[in-house]
Amino acid sequence: MKLDDLNDILKDEPNYRRKQVGHLLYKDLIDDWSQATILSKPLREKLNAICPLFINGEIIKSGDKKSEKALITLNDGAAIETVLMRHKDGRRTVCVSSQVGCPMACGFCATGMMGFKRNLVKDEIIEQVLFWSRRLKSAGEEGVSNIVFMGMGEPFLNYQNVIAAIRAINDKDGLNIGARHISISTCGLIDGIKKLAKENLQVNLAISLHASNNHLREKLMPVAKKYSLKNLLLAVDAYIEKTNRKVMFEYVLIKNINDSEVNAHELAQLMHQPLYFVNLIAYNETGNFKTSDKEKIIKFKKILDSAGVEVVERFSFGGDIDAACGQLANKQKSRYSK
Ligand code: SAH
Repeated sequence: MKLDDLNDILKDEPNYRRKQVGHLLYKDLIDDWSQATILSKPLREKLNAICPLFINGEIIKSGDKKSEKALITLNDGAAIETVLMRHKDGRRTVCVSSQVGCPMACGFCATGMMGFKRNLVKDEIIEQVLFWSRRLKSAGEEGVSNIVFMGMGEPFLNYQNVIAAIRAINDKDGLNIGARHISISTCGLIDGIKKLAKENLQVNLAISLHASNNHLREKLMPVAKKYSLKNLLLAVDAYIEKTNRKVMFEYVLIKNINDSEVNAHELAQLMHQPLYFVNLIAYNETGNFKTSDKEKIIKFKKILDSAGVEVVERFSFGGDIDAACGQLANKQKSRYSK
């Protein structure tokens, strides 16, 4: 979809037309302009010719019906993945990709292994949310309530398009999803954290930490060689100082790599700020590493709890649909090389 072309097409139309079109797109969630009978036939035909609304998505359902994953094929043949998660408390969260592939090369991440192809443009980010909004509507369910930038790619390497997409998704005449319900997850790019602090947007920031000391982090995540753990936490503190918002630290528990009691104690020491909280994630096996044993995860969490660190354990959604970052697209690798 090329939503940006809409302004050009509508430039000779009266002002109210733009509102009508926005309503058709984001509230009625039409997927073909022929459904827009409120518009004249010539305009519908023009819109279908220049700005077709078809999204080329293919759904792979999970066994538990709570999470669904889709592979969206873009105009240049590149494929990205996006996931819908239905939570028990009624939230419906969409996980979006920000890049085709990823250059950050984190050792445990399937996307990291496939390398980087290109940034997504704003419309390709919005399209992922629209895809699920349409699906929920046609199933008679409530719309998307939350968005997390935890799909393929590093959002801060595609900063402008990510922020532009968030503003559009946030717009009350658009999908109208509150900024507080949108989370950006980064592997720890300090420049991005600094820029976001100045944005005056109420979005949530999540940091992929995954290690309790710098040495281990450097081994798992090449980005740590450029930005040390110490400097990363200083940047997060400055962000908190400026925004007064909580920051989530994601910690994927990988068997015998980062899940020892020593690691838990080290992590507890790092989490000194009252506005920090930890999200423990069971590793989804994608390559050389294994998931931590359940008992180890419980013990790890207990140590953080006892140290007074706020900690949650993320549901491991969709293991059976390869929901972890990059897994599905990796299996369809040929589609990347088109
Ligand atoms: N580049 C961003 C966002 C994409 S990854 C970032 O690094 O935060 C979203 C989250 O999924 C990150 O915390 C990432 O480390 C984690 N992740 C990657 N591979 C995973 C796997 N196999 N199992 C569980 N989580 C994984």
